[in-house]
Amino acid sequence: MSHIAYVNGRYLPQKHAQIHIEDRGHQFADGVYEVICIWHGRPADYTAHIARLNRSLRELAIRPPVSNAALAFIVKEVVGRNRLDKGTVYIQINRGVAPRAHVFPGAAVKPSLIVTAKHGAGPADAVARAGVKVITLPDTRWKRCDIKSVGLLPNALAKQAAAEAKAYEALLLTPEGTVTEASVSNAWMVTPERTIVTHPATSSILAGVTRGRVLKIAREAGYVVEERPFTLAEALKAKEVFLTGTTTFVMPVVRIDEQPVANGVPGTVACELRQRYQDYIDSLTADVSGSAWDA
Ligand code: PLP
Repeated sequence: MSHIAYVNGRYLPQKHAQIHIEDRGHQFADGVYEVICIWHGRPADYTAHIARLNRSLRELAIRPPVSNAALAFIVKEVVGRNRLDKGTVYIQINRGVAPRAHVFPGAAVKPSLIVTAKHGAGPADAVARAGVKVITLPDTRWKRCDIKSVGLLPNALAKQAAAEAKAYEALLLTPEGTVTEASVSNAWMVTPERTIVTHPATSSILAGVTRGRVLKIAREAGYVVEERPFTLAEALKAKEVFLTGTTTFVMPVVRIDEQPVANGVPGTVACELRQRYQDYIDSLTADVSGSAWDA
């Protein structure tokens, strides 16, 4: 079945979907995006994704091209037209099409909206059961990592370096050795006292929607959770390290730069949180009229 994409008011076979060469998303990475996990045809944390999308738009002074209600309709339509059961929906909003100039175009220029779908969600069970290796790299990104901008070249370079090292992810480090996050996921550790630690939601990281969900799940499960920066040295001495993200779910890390984390197998905290996250997405039902689409 060919994929159906939504582009600026039209649903098209993806291979025929196009944007203009003077779209500012293409020329300046002047756009923002969201990736939402669809499970049993239902979106995980839709409201949180749309809240973050609207925040990213506000921070860059890009006008939302459609209302939240219209966007929910379009996303639902793309899920339905692609018969997506388990997959991801990608939403991108660019500032619009205008003759190339750094300064923003006038108010008459309408932002572009693209919504696409991909089949397949979450990591393979075997990968999560075994845990993954990560590498470390300097965090070379700009100072507004809280904005989910399509300017992802440093992230792509880091993920490529990880792939070349046969690693799952790259932890990104400040010059002081703080772990900000990873190239496409948030980073966590568990201290020897079983306190769960993750970087606070400052402009140095993307406040992951999965991070928000896992913070809630962990606190509800009775864990002490601290949102504070931690260093690579701390992570190497931690009881556990793990990652979270829309495509990662909760992923135990068992090696950092070839050094084992604790005894080199997935930890009990990460495994419990992974199961509880799985329980959350499994609780999404196939009911298409419920509140999960409301933003
Ligand atoms: N950090 C970065 C840099 C990301 O690109 C992502 C996801 O794409 C995340 C964290 C995880 O965010 P979320 O849980 O919303 O997918």
